[in-house]
Amino acid sequence: MIGFPGNLDFEFSQLSGLLDIFVNNVGDPNGKEKSAVSAKAMECAVIEFIAGLTNADTKEVYGYVTAGGSEANLFGLDRGCETLPEAAIYCSTAAHYSIAKNARLMRRRLVTVDTDASGRIAPDALEKACRGAAGRGAVVVATIGTTMSGAVDDVDAIATAAAVAGPVYVHADAALGGLIVPFTEIAETWGFARPEVGSIAISMHKGLGMPVPCALAICRSDLVQQQVHGEYIGAADATLGCSRSGLAAILIWYALAAKGLAGLSENALRALATARYASRRLADLGLSPKLQPYSIVVVFDRPAESICRKYHLATEGTTAHLVTVPHVTPAIIDKLCEDIRRSTDNVER
Ligand SMILES: *Cc1c(COP(=O)(O)O)cnc(C)c1O
Repeated sequence: MIGFPGNLDFEFSQLSGLLDIFVNNVGDPNGKEKSAVSAKAMECAVIEFIAGLTNADTKEVYGYVTAGGSEANLFGLDRGCETLPEAAIYCSTAAHYSIAKNARLMRRRLVTVDTDASGRIAPDALEKACRGAAGRGAVVVATIGTTMSGAVDDVDAIATAAAVAGPVYVHADAALGGLIVPFTEIAETWGFARPEVGSIAISMHKGLGMPVPCALAICRSDLVQQQVHGEYIGAADATLGCSRSGLAAILIWYALAAKGLAGLSENALRALATARYASRRLADLGLSPKLQPYSIVVVFDRPAESICRKYHLATEGTTAHLVTVPHVTPAIIDKLCEDIRRSTDNVER
């Protein structure tokens, strides 16, 4: 399975005893609560550690473990829409479909903007779209690693372009790239380094490797001042859920504790190196691969259907892509290339 970005390189069987325990993180991770067994201490540690990779002041952020990237995007967009009640939501045509779904749920107007040749949101198109909204502000989604091409939107350019609408709130959808870019040359400048960025979504099952889907929603803590107080749970609650998976928080904590910063860095650098390797090998086969900077997604000419099926490649029209999450090794890329070579030999015969 190399076409979809779930890292399958993990091992949690040592924790199987947890399956006999109901671990419910109800309400805010940092709030006290009445639930008998929670993993909130681990959830807080996870948020603090990952926030440290986003150029946040870790004491000035709020965050929690969500059911997945889409919920983390909804949380961030909701914070943005509350901050700028008159603003529309802007994203590129390459943004994940959860942005459109979330805009619909919030009954907020969504404006979709073209991308440039490299798949990033086009600043001139964004500026043009924002020009008619002067004074209303703009809630803009910056995708840090688009689903189909891995392109990383330029947040500096976005913030400047959208400013014609007035105040700008940027939500960074880093579901795919959130555990990659902190280990690249843009490490110091991405995420909360820019004041316009209010929230970030980072998937955990994609980069880290998890047996259950989960992600992190992180925002600046001043964006959750009006917390809903859940009488019945006895805890303040700015999350979108009520009961949340304590198991997911424990699994993330365990994976982060086992890998440490060095392990995360190695994962990211290996994934980027494997993507470059795949790109070279596919170029040798004449399949015109495209690999964007800081990306682990390699887009190439769609091979035979049997190969797409065998490797679970994601396809779109005449192109296919693979994602070099840590379980995708150079040896697997070699096998793929060998299969592609054989299949074209067959066609020629
Ligand atoms: C995968 C992905 C999502 C959605 O994450 P889910 O966990 O599937 O909800 C959102 N945005 C981007 C850029 C993604 O790659």
